[in-house]
Amino acid sequence: MTTPLVEMDGDEMTRILWKMIKEELLLPYIELKTEYYDLGLACRNETDDQVTIDSAEATKKYGVAVKCATITPNAARMTEYNLKEMWKSPNGTIRAALDGTVFRAPIIVKGIEPCVKNWEKPITLARHAYGDVYKNTEIKVPGAGKAELVFTAADGTQIRETIHEFAGPGILQGIHNTDKSIASFAKACFNYALDTKQDLWFATKDTISKKYDHNFKDIFQEIYDAEYKEKFESAGIEYFYTLIDDAVARVMKAKGGFIWACKNYDGDVMSDMVSSAFGSLAMMTSVLVSPDGVYEYEAAHGTVQRHYYKHLAGEETSTNSVATIFAWTGALRKRGELDGNRDLMAFADKLEKATIQTIEEGKMTKDLALITSLNDVTVLNSENFIKEIRKTLETL
Ligand code: NAP
Ligand code: MG
Repeated sequence: MTTPLVEMDGDEMTRILWKMIKEELLLPYIELKTEYYDLGLACRNETDDQVTIDSAEATKKYGVAVKCATITPNAARMTEYNLKEMWKSPNGTIRAALDGTVFRAPIIVKGIEPCVKNWEKPITLARHAYGDVYKNTEIKVPGAGKAELVFTAADGTQIRETIHEFAGPGILQGIHNTDKSIASFAKACFNYALDTKQDLWFATKDTISKKYDHNFKDIFQEIYDAEYKEKFESAGIEYFYTLIDDAVARVMKAKGGFIWACKNYDGDVMSDMVSSAFGSLAMMTSVLVSPDGVYEYEAAHGTVQRHYYKHLAGEETSTNSVATIFAWTGALRKRGELDGNRDLMAFADKLEKATIQTIEEGKMTKDLALITSLNDVTVLNSENFIKEIRKTLETL
């Protein structure tokens, strides 16, 4: 390796897996170069969360990061870790610093079949992670009265619309988004489509929401026409806009192998549907892509707290490390691509192949054993699963 990866260590069971993956699957095979940031909760607390900010800055500098799952503190964690403050979600902090879009795709293996029979290839969900109902203002209307939407410009001029004349009690909600954030989202989607050579679908409810959703549609189209049309044509891929209800119907009939870009709420809801239909959160890759082409790879699941407590109690665990392994391979492959390091890219491919082959040979963790269609299955503990992958890797 020439340029280091930004390595963000994390918490609980995934921190245990992290160390095993490095020792068994990475360090024996590559001259791993990382700039290490400990995002474990203890270190975030000691540094007043500065370590998270530093890791995000380092990601901007080097361009590629790999992140372990981390605890987002709540009241229970305050006492468990004796915290000075209820530190913010590291993912939120990193996302805000990189202005990114999150792409999630299932890892397909034979023996773990999607519930939707015609899904042959992965469907990648791209979720806009800013605004709409997630940054809303709400009023519970007590009784009769007039609700208005008012915008006051910097110079004091106003735009005013009546929302509703209430005859009795009801509810009100104000939401917003910005052209800047929508444009970043669009560019992240177009770049990711080019990067992975997949068609891009985008859908909103612009027939009903003639200004709000229509603005999303227009910004996507303007950016596509100005900056991406030719690139898409020469890559042989397509950008396709349709209504959200049409998109949902088409997704169910499709073969997969495309990116589905969704507004914030649609992405929240649809990514849970798509991921559970494909089998398991532990078989899902997740990458945050910024509009300037900075990449942060992680697993889609959390720190698997319940397994960690068993581990601490000296009991055996069977935690699936696939998503964490794929976070590493994703980051290594991207680093290799940016540095023109073919050996590193080839290693990432090989490690992914070894991981998939191990499962397809019937050696897997308990979560997969419960849903597999394979007959001859060996259920492995956390450590032995990683060791089996190493054995497979040695044969490739
Ligand atoms: P979780 O860690 O995703 O685990 C929820 C359950 O899903 C587990 O108890 C387990 O089910 C199953 N599971 C998840 N990943 C698995 C794996 N790799 N192998 C096997 N089973 C797996 O969610 P959580 O327990 O709600 O959250 C724990 C901590 O993670 C929280 O502190 C939260 O803040 C944090 N979190 C972090 C991120 C992130 O950093 N990206 C994302 C989400 C949550 P069984 O117990 O039934 O085996
Ligand atoms: Mg959700």
